[in-house]
Amino acid sequence: MAYQALYRQWRPTDFSSMVAQEAVVATLRNQITTGRIAHAYLFCGSRGTGKTSTAKIMARAINCEHPSNGDPCGQCESCKRLLGEESMDVMEIDAASNNGVDEIRDLRETVKYPPQHGKFKVYIIDEVHMLSASAFHALLKTLEEPPGHVVFILATTEPQKLPATILSRCQRFDFGRIPAHQIAGRLRQAVEGANGTATDTALSMIARAAEGGMRDALSILDMCLGYQSDVTEALVRNVLGTSDRSFLFRFTEALEWEDASTVMAMIDELMRAGREPMVFAKDVSQHLRALLMAKTCPDDLASLLDLTAEAAEEYVGQAENMTVTRLMKMMEYFMNVETELRWASSPRIVLENAALKCCLRTVEADTAALNDRIAQLEKQLADLTEKLKNGVVAAAPAKAEKPAAKSAPKKEEAPKPKVLTPTGRSTDDTWKEALNVLKKSDSGTYSMLTMGRYAGCDGTTYRWEAPMGMDIYVGVLNKDAKRNAIAAALTEAAGVESKFEALPAGGQKQNDDSEAAFVAQLEQTFGKANTLVQEEVK
Ligand SMILES: [Zn+2]
Repeated sequence: MAYQALYRQWRPTDFSSMVAQEAVVATLRNQITTGRIAHAYLFCGSRGTGKTSTAKIMARAINCEHPSNGDPCGQCESCKRLLGEESMDVMEIDAASNNGVDEIRDLRETVKYPPQHGKFKVYIIDEVHMLSASAFHALLKTLEEPPGHVVFILATTEPQKLPATILSRCQRFDFGRIPAHQIAGRLRQAVEGANGTATDTALSMIARAAEGGMRDALSILDMCLGYQSDVTEALVRNVLGTSDRSFLFRFTEALEWEDASTVMAMIDELMRAGREPMVFAKDVSQHLRALLMAKTCPDDLASLLDLTAEAAEEYVGQAENMTVTRLMKMMEYFMNVETELRWASSPRIVLENAALKCCLRTVEADTAALNDRIAQLEKQLADLTEKLKNGVVAAAPAKAEKPAAKSAPKKEEAPKPKVLTPTGRSTDDTWKEALNVLKKSDSGTYSMLTMGRYAGCDGTTYRWEAPMGMDIYVGVLNKDAKRNAIAAALTEAAGVESKFEALPAGGQKQNDDSEAAFVAQLEQTFGKANTLVQEEVK
């Protein structure tokens, strides 16, 4: 017998064997048991989420002589005939394969004849958005007055491309991406069915790479099993062309330490191993994103990223020594690689350039980077002072002590003028308190807010500025529901009606003044002679 691809072997034959899509399945089961079948359905969702499988199950279920809880029995004449896929009663049209005008025209001819065997004639039109305008027109005529024995099931990955006239005539079902752990569960069954073995990590790597599509996941597994029956992480990485996790940890650590020579050596190692710069840049972005999430929502990390508890801990551990600003900046560089690679004649140089930018933190001239730098230096100084006090660093260079001593009186010299709210909090503290409240009540909003920066308050309106390249958050946070929730937290913390506003990166303020202020602060802290301000090297 010829080899049958895993995704065909594991295509579900009834609702009970479907993975995920619980809401869709429950509604369809209910319609079948109560006999309230619509005459046109629209199944929307990304590839491999079960649209076509569901359409086929549906076609059998509504024709089944003894359906059980909405599932086709698989035993009756009708079920057997339809499982053999030789019936004239279920027609599959792939709109992507041709323009479909002829097929739709044929459909209009055949649609009036009753089914040969079962109760319903079912037309499944896959990728329906690919139909030409005239084919849509022809289809619409049929959808307007369908004979009682006909059911249409239209499937599409891009419902926004469908004319409103079609949308309004169909009952719509949205198929969500399948969660990685559910995909991994099915992969486990498939591996065992193929008499193979696999580690949990290998399977969850495949599941994550498939991005919610079961068909892609099973195809990747198929490729792995084509090499060897023991599916290991190394094998999956080879098949996917991605990098070792420990390699990514070492690479980002080198970036954090601004260790350019290690970084360059690691890129060289990758290129010699024949890795794609684009794939690696994506891997690094993913890793940085995981670190960013580890930094902003460490407690939910395992469930957010579908990780084991140990893996989540590794990310949290690495993120501990990095600041959010720094991570965002590095992520920005690596995400730009993707765009730049499109025009680049030497992909390797683009990748190296991004890595070097991460290493040369001192050339970052924007205030956020300076702020970050100050925060880190202050922490280092504090650590060092502590060690000096305890006599741990006996022979520390005298230079290190000086700025530490200078930075202490600075705080007493220039106390910040504070605006107090009715609750007695300064506006800065009000912001912090509101964040604390949100952290408990709405961690999603809280995480978004921590990625950007607090941009000040003029009386009662608190402003927040999006991080570079993430202006998408502005729209999200300015939506009424979110904005009101944040305003409510602020109002509570301030004791007076307060408002919230999200601004795009760079805000509406001129950055130069605050930048000058930062430089002044730096000079005050470290002494003018020790401060060198460089323009960013373009
Ligand atoms: Zn049956």
